[in-house]
Amino acid sequence: MGAVLGSQASTGPGEWYYTLPEESLNSAQSALTARELPSIDTTTSLPAVIPRPEHTISRTEISKNALKVLYRLKSAGYQSFLVGGGVRDLLLGHEPKDFDVVTDARPEQVKDLFRNCRLIGRRFRLAHVHFGREIVEVATFRAHHDSAEAGEAETVDGRIVRDNVYGSFDEDAARRDFTINSLYYDIRDFSLVDTAGGLDDLKSGLIRLIGDPATRFREDPVRMLRAVRFAAKLGFRLHPDTERPIPALTQLLWEVPPARLFDEVLKLFHSGTAVQAFELLRHYDLFAPIFPATDQCLQEQSEGFPRVLVAKGLANTDARIAEGKPVTPAFLLAVLLWEPMRRRADAYRDAGHSVTVAVQQAGEEVMVEQAQRVAVPRRFSTVAREIWALQPRLAVTTGKRPLRVLEHPRFRAAYDFLLLRAEAGDDLRELCDWWTRFQELDDSERAGILKPARPRSRGRRGRRRPARD
Ligand code: ATP
Ligand code: MG
Repeated sequence: MGAVLGSQASTGPGEWYYTLPEESLNSAQSALTARELPSIDTTTSLPAVIPRPEHTISRTEISKNALKVLYRLKSAGYQSFLVGGGVRDLLLGHEPKDFDVVTDARPEQVKDLFRNCRLIGRRFRLAHVHFGREIVEVATFRAHHDSAEAGEAETVDGRIVRDNVYGSFDEDAARRDFTINSLYYDIRDFSLVDTAGGLDDLKSGLIRLIGDPATRFREDPVRMLRAVRFAAKLGFRLHPDTERPIPALTQLLWEVPPARLFDEVLKLFHSGTAVQAFELLRHYDLFAPIFPATDQCLQEQSEGFPRVLVAKGLANTDARIAEGKPVTPAFLLAVLLWEPMRRRADAYRDAGHSVTVAVQQAGEEVMVEQAQRVAVPRRFSTVAREIWALQPRLAVTTGKRPLRVLEHPRFRAAYDFLLLRAEAGDDLRELCDWWTRFQELDDSERAGILKPARPRSRGRRGRRRPARD
C-alpha cells in the first residue's frame, strides 16, 4: 500500500505533537498586548463606559466606510456602535479584518438609508453595505431567544436554529459569545463600552463565554470552534469555566448544518494561525466532527505521515499568509483530505484500477463524504481534485507528457503539493528537483532533456486491469 502516490516515511511524534507549548501562547499574547489597555474596575459596575481620552481607539484606525455607516445611522436618529472583532483587534493593536456595526435600526430601515445595501441571511437577518470590495456588516440589536417578544426564534434541543429576535443594547451585549467580543465603540461620543469584562480578559489573554458556558455552547455548538479560533488567533487560552463543559458537548457539532461550517473552517485555517488552530481542535476533540475521515487517519497513524503532511501544509499556509501571499481553500482541502483520498486510491489500485481512475474515484468519494460535514463550494473541491489528479502525472518525466502537465492551469498548485509531500516524508526529493529545474528551462532546453517515453506498463506490478463494464 502507499506505493502509487509515494512511499511513507515515518517521522517521530515529537515535532508535531498537538499540545500547544506554553511559550507559544505567552509569546503571542505578549506581542499583542503591547498596546496599553484602559484600566477600569469592572468587578463592581458593568457595563463600564470608558471615555475617549482613556482608551486607545482612534477614528483614524477605523475604515472610512465603517465610519460613514456609523455616522449616517446616527444622523438618522439611530444608535450605532462598532462591535466585535474590529473593536477587539484595535484594542490589541491589530489591524482588524473587518468592521461590524450594530444598531437599533431594523434591517429594512438600514436598507432605506443606503443605496448600496443588501439584506442577507436567514438565521440572522443582516444588512450588508457594499463599498466596492469592502462590505460593512450592519446587525440590528438582538435579544436572547427566550427574553423577547418581537421577532421569531426557534430552538431544537436547546440549539438556536433561527433567531431574528430584536432587542435592546443590553440584550444584544448579553447574547454575544465571548467577553472580548462584547466591547462596543459608541460613535456618539467615541467612548468604549465594556459590557461583560472583556477588557480584563483581553489583558489576561482569556477566552471566556458570557453567561453559563454549557448553555451557551448548547445553543450554538459553533461557539466551541469560535473559542478555539480566537484562542489560536490571539494566542489566548480558554478560561477554565469555558473549557470545562467542552468534552461533554463536542458531539453537538455533528448536528451543525454543513452550510454553516465552511466559513468557519476557512477562518480557522486561513487566519495565519492554522497550526495552533489544528492543534487546539485536536486537543478538544473538535476536529473529528468537521473532518471525520482525516481524523480517522490521524487516529490510526498518529505518529507517521498524515499528521506531518497536514501540519506541514498548515504551517506553509501560515507562512504564506505571513508573507502576504495568496492562499486558496482548494489547496487547504487538498492538504486536509489527502490521506483519506490516498488510502482509498490505493485500495482501488490494489483492485486493479489505473492510477488515474483510482485517484479520480477516490477523490470524488472523499469529497462527497466531506460535503456531509462541511459544505465546500464546488469550485474549490474541483480544484483540490485536480491537484490530486496531477500527482501521479507529475511522476512521469519522459516523453511529451511533462510539457502538457506544465501547461495545466493547476500545475503550480500541484507542484507546490508535490514539494509538500516531499517535505512531509514522501520519497520525492529527486522528482521535486527535476520539476524545479524543468520549469526554469526554456522550450528548447526542455525538449532537450526529455527522454523518450517508456512503453506503457499494463497496470500496477505488471497485472492486467480487470475488464470494466
Ligand atoms: P473576526 O475577526 O473573525 O471577524 P469577530 O469577533 O468579528 O471575529 P464575527 O463572526 O465577525 O467575529 O462576529 C462578529 C461578532 O458577532 C462577534 O464578535 C460576536 O460578538 C458576535 N457573534 C458572532 N457569532 C456569534 C455566535 N455564534 N454566538 C454569539 N455571538 C456571536
Ligand atoms: Mg468580524
